[in-house]
Amino acid sequence: MNELSVCVNGRRDLPLRHINLHSPDGFEWGYGGSGPADLALAILVDFLEEDPKKVLRGHGGEKSAAVHAHQRFKDKFIVGLPREHWRLTEDEIKKWYYDVIGALCKDCGQGMKESDGCRLFGIPMKDGTTADPIKHGEETRSDWGRDGKRCHDCAAKVGHYHHPGCDVEECPGCGGQLIGCECLLTDKELDADKPRLIGRDGTPI
Ligand SMILES: [Zn+2]
Ligand SMILES: [Zn+2]
Ligand SMILES: [Zn+2]
Repeated sequence: MNELSVCVNGRRDLPLRHINLHSPDGFEWGYGGSGPADLALAILVDFLEEDPKKVLRGHGGEKSAAVHAHQRFKDKFIVGLPREHWRLTEDEIKKWYYDVIGALCKDCGQGMKESDGCRLFGIPMKDGTTADPIKHGEETRSDWGRDGKRCHDCAAKVGHYHHPGCDVEECPGCGGQLIGCECLLTDKELDADKPRLIGRDGTPI
């Protein structure tokens, strides 16, 4: 272990927890190596309040958003930190995270601004069918996306699916706003014993 330590909220009694993904020796900063990568990871795990166990589960386990973003965070913040003393505020981290990664979609787990789009799943409708979602730019009642820009709400790219809960997404049933219309089965109405999510080809996931 090296002598470097990092405190959370400026409290010496609250050391940032090291998760050994790259560097058994602990944290480093001021260059682009493995110690700095572990520092970037630990800061994001703290910021996102992730379970450290999830971080190390690796491939096949639950996706860690911190692992996903930590190399970019390192390049932006950790590589250039001064040797002696530094401080990073939650606001700085938050600003970077939402500018670059975006809010995390609770369905696909991706950052909305960095992913192309979502809707891994069909939409369970009240009439018992599963509807294919309408992609950004293919809405019939508005010209959203015709300018080629990402969705202003969920940041889906043109030609890709919106992330659930987006206020732009059109209902494939009635053509209205999906989050406002009555065609969709609500969480309450979904049968708890049946799979919640249905693949686009109709198979439960
Ligand atoms: Zn999504
Ligand atoms: Zn959208
Ligand atoms: Zn509808």
